[in-house]
Order: sequence, then structure tokens, then C-alpha cells
Amino acid sequence: MSILVWIEQASNGPVASSFEVVGKARELAGALSTQVVAAVAGDDTAATAEVARTYGADVVMTLTSPVLAGFRLSAYAHALKQAINEAGATVVLMAATVRGRELAATLACDLGAGYAPDVVDLRVESGKLVAVRSVYSNNILTDVTFNSDIQVASVRPRSFPMPEAGSAGGEVRAIDLAISEDDVKEKLVEVKSTDAGEISLTDAAKIVSGGRGVAQDPAKGFALVSELAATIGAAVGASRAAVDAGYIPYKHQVGQTGKTVKPDLYIAAGISGAIQHLAGMGGSKVIVAINKDGDAPIFDRANYGVVGDLYEVLPALTEEFKKRLG
Ligand SMILES: Cc1cc2nc3c(=O)[nH]c(=O)nc-3n(C[C@H](O)[C@H](O)[C@H](O)COP(=O)(O)OP(=O)(O)OC[C@H]3O[C@@H](n4cnc5c(N)ncnc54)[C@H](O)[C@@H]3O)c2cc1C
Repeated sequence: MSILVWIEQASNGPVASSFEVVGKARELAGALSTQVVAAVAGDDTAATAEVARTYGADVVMTLTSPVLAGFRLSAYAHALKQAINEAGATVVLMAATVRGRELAATLACDLGAGYAPDVVDLRVESGKLVAVRSVYSNNILTDVTFNSDIQVASVRPRSFPMPEAGSAGGEVRAIDLAISEDDVKEKLVEVKSTDAGEISLTDAAKIVSGGRGVAQDPAKGFALVSELAATIGAAVGASRAAVDAGYIPYKHQVGQTGKTVKPDLYIAAGISGAIQHLAGMGGSKVIVAINKDGDAPIFDRANYGVVGDLYEVLPALTEEFKKRLG
């Protein structure tokens, strides 16, 4: 018996939210008196395994094969099933990233296991996992329990704090992976990245978002949003109205039909605060709203509000941050 956590690798290294899941798994492992096994898969796993072992996993399994170069769902599902089997895992967790969500669903399906997607909390009751899901635009929290022996959940990024990396670490164990191209159903033809160097929205600790309030001069408005974001090390977000109007690509959309984010700081500029937008960012620790309408609903949810024109407030904020941050 063990808890297995998939450590996702991106082109620039391990995905940080995987380690948030390891931190929570460590806590659950105490309640279940079991081990945490972190599984790293890819054509090159050594560097990520070294990082993973410092975050509290008892064992880091490496699943290394040229077949795992680039993410292909059936290849990763094949490899992870072997890891789950070797680890005797009864709980399988991963970050609910785009890949994590589909991999977890595929594994659950193949293993005949119950699956709780995009959970915001996890606990143990009577020796079984209870997964907490947020539904109806974050208005209701539901507890999900499992009837299956294996319990699979994907965890919404930033639901748990990042654990401290320690110097001592778990054992790294290379698995003799039985996989060939014949086991894989997809062919990766080309990878085109549109976000080289950008901070990922779902992992971001700080986000500056723009809305339809930039309509007067959208290019300038989002340049001001981006400049403030770059100054404070934040990701750039947007409302659906801004995306639908073509001011910024969909990958920046926050909300019910965009990304769900949970940063420490969310600055909303020219966003009214519609329920569907709040559904994606209402869990932010500190919300700052900039809006020229003092009655905009976003002010009901904001910790700090500035009633003013974003074309004046954003550059003033950027200048002040630049001074203070040197
Ligand atoms: C099924 C469904 C799903 C949806 N999913 C999403 C989603 O995922 N994400 C999302 O965001 N929305 C979503 N929406 C749309 C949502 O209902 C709103 O229409 C949208 O969030 C509005 O975006 P906005 O706040 O930018 O625009 P508006 O509501 O038009 O607000 C613009 C704000 O900017 C302010 N403003 C104008 N000029 C300035 C200025 N110069 N300086 C400062 N403030 C200014 C105005 O006072 C206003 O409050 C969804 C809707 C539906 C029906």
C-alpha cells in the first residue's frame, strides 16, 4: 500500500504544483501509515527525480524510456500503471493540470477506480480518502468518497502550500519499464509552444488581469497590464469579454470557462466581477480591483479597491512598484 504522486515534467523542468500534491500526500500518508511514492516519467528523468526526492517522498520511481519523450496519453498511462502496480498504490494523485486531468481520468478508467477530478482538499476518514470538490462556481463544496480499492484524484493547483524542500531525500528507484512504440496509440507530430518564458496562470502566485475596461485602447491597456505583471513577477490574466473581443488569446482567460486560479494576489483592472469570472479567481488570497465605476460588483469581493481609470492607475502602480522593488 502506498500513495503515488505523478510528478509532471514540462520542457523547463518539473511542474511546481506536483510538489504541492507531494506535500499533501505526506500528510495523508501519516494518517494512512503508508509511504509516499513520487513517479517521474520521461525520456530523461534524472534531474526531476533529484528535485522530487527533496520534497518529502519516501521513494522516487523513475520511468525512463525514449517512448516517453513528449507527453502522449497512452504512453504515460501505460508507464504509470506499471508504477502503480510496483508501488502497490491505493491512492493515486496528481496536479489537475491539462495533462494531469486526462492522465488521472485514463488511469482511473483503465484500473476500474473511482476518480475525483480537480479537488481542492483531501483528508482521510476511516482509512479511506475523502476528496473535496468545489462546484457551482465555488458556491458548494462536496465530499467525494470512493467505492473502489484504488482511489484517484487530481488536485487543483495551489490548493495546498508548497512544501519546504529539505536536504535529505527519499531513495531514487529506477523501474525496469516494459514499454515499446507498439503500446502507444498516438504519434506526436510537432510541438508548438506559445508561452515560452511566460509564468503559468494556474501556478502563479500573483496575477494581473485585464477586462473589457481596456476597450478604449486594448493594445495599450494590455501593455499596461503586462508591464505591471512583469514588474511584480505576475502572470497575465483576462476576463472572457476581453478574450471574446480579441484583445488577448484564450489561454489567459480566467473564470468558469477559462482557468481556475488561486494566487496570493489578484489584480483585476477594468473587470466588473461577473459571477463567471469570480468562479475562476474567487479563491485568491488578496484581490485588488481597479474600476472607474465605484458600484462595480468586483468591489464586493475585493480586499482593496481603487475607483479610477486603469490607464492612469496601472502606470502609477507600476512606477511605485519599480521604485519600491528597486
Ligand atoms: C456560460 C458562461 C460562461 C462564462 N465564462 C466566463 C469566464 O470564464 N470568465 C469571464 O471572465 N467571464 C465569463 N463569462 C462572461 C461574464 O458573464 C461577463 O460577461 C464577463 O466576465 C465580463 O467581462 P468584463 O468584466 O471584462 O466586462 P464588463 O462586464 O463589460 O466590465 C468592464 C468593467 O470595466 C470598467 N471600466 C471601463 N472602462 C474602464 C477604465 N478606463 N478604467 C477602469 N475600469 C473601466 C467598467 O466600469 C466595467 O465594470 C461567462 C458567461 C457565461 C454566460
